[in-house]
Amino acid sequence: MLPSAQEVLDALTSGALVVESGTIRYANPILLEWVGSTRLEGQPLGTALRIPARTNCLLCQGKTAQCLPVHTATILTAHGEEIQVKVKHSQLPSGQNLLVLDLFSEDAALTQAHTDFVSTVSHEFRTPLTSIKGFADTLLQYGGKLSEEQQRRFISIIKDQADRLIRLVENLLSVSRIGAGRLEMSYRPVPLLKLVDKVVQSIKIKGVGDREFEIEMNPSLPPVWADADRLEQVLLNLVDNAAKYSHPGSTIKVAGRLAPDAEDQVCIDVVDQGIGIPPEHLEEIFTKFYRIDSPLTQQVEGTGLGLYIVRSLTQAMGGDITVESTPERGTAFTLRFQAATAELQAAHRRKLYAEDTGS
Ligand code: ADP
Repeated sequence: MLPSAQEVLDALTSGALVVESGTIRYANPILLEWVGSTRLEGQPLGTALRIPARTNCLLCQGKTAQCLPVHTATILTAHGEEIQVKVKHSQLPSGQNLLVLDLFSEDAALTQAHTDFVSTVSHEFRTPLTSIKGFADTLLQYGGKLSEEQQRRFISIIKDQADRLIRLVENLLSVSRIGAGRLEMSYRPVPLLKLVDKVVQSIKIKGVGDREFEIEMNPSLPPVWADADRLEQVLLNLVDNAAKYSHPGSTIKVAGRLAPDAEDQVCIDVVDQGIGIPPEHLEEIFTKFYRIDSPLTQQVEGTGLGLYIVRSLTQAMGGDITVESTPERGTAFTLRFQAATAELQAAHRRKLYAEDTGS
């Protein structure tokens, strides 16, 4: 004779909940043990589980357009400790929801992050490689029959795609250096106008379609105290994003100004008139591999590493980044760095001297 459904759920080593219209109808012993409760029946699902706000389908019962499967949630234990769980969700024939919960161990999280990483990176490598191989094969096979103009066009596509691979490798190397805490900075006063000009030119050469660029910078603005190569990488990522996530014909502005509340600090704004970022994503966009799950974002090439690198490098240089955005109107990222004051430079020279002489 088969055991009853409840006997099966009672014997599970995973947590299990049956939920109906957002109310818990059954909780198995292991789940009760995790939350340190003897009874959860009749209570709202939120009493046992905290589900990330943007994936609340189990609470809405699939009735809203944003209904999404829930993959992770947090449980608050009897001791006030938060534990992460992986959630598997199935709809029962009765219309109730069955949730099976497994502890999200660090090992599992690392394996998952590793799998996500390998699949994102393989995809990002494959696209340009396929294109490079395709155009190189065509040139080899039919090169003699193509016009000079066509040959040049194919070679320039190969070069663009190779540049894309180089950017990807550079970003991955930065991520691994940041992760290993191996970021060596070489500080010096960096004149902004020259650097911003260089960044805008290289984005234009890369080809971003029909975008206007506007640089607004007072020539008397003091230089910034930073590592020039890292600051260039930060600005390249921000200006590249501004171009990627905005519409043809729109303007991208890069402005340098003194911080309104501190004379020894410089702000750099990168402002676009693009698709914007909904408020609930404004913090998460700075985390590794995070891309907004919307058709507008997904149709643009990207790995979700750019802003993670931008914020990590900015903070490593003692700076700060903030963002303001209105969906469908545009986004403004503001960087803030120390100006290269005479005092800062003198202190740096003293430090180097002390390191050299061991004093
Ligand atoms: P990606 O490689 O996807 O561009 P980033 O880390 O640079 O990765 O950005 C993370 C996500 O933040 C992007 O996928 C996009 O959804 C959003 N985003 C970044 N910059 C902008 C912007 N200027 N306008 C609108 N969305 C942006």
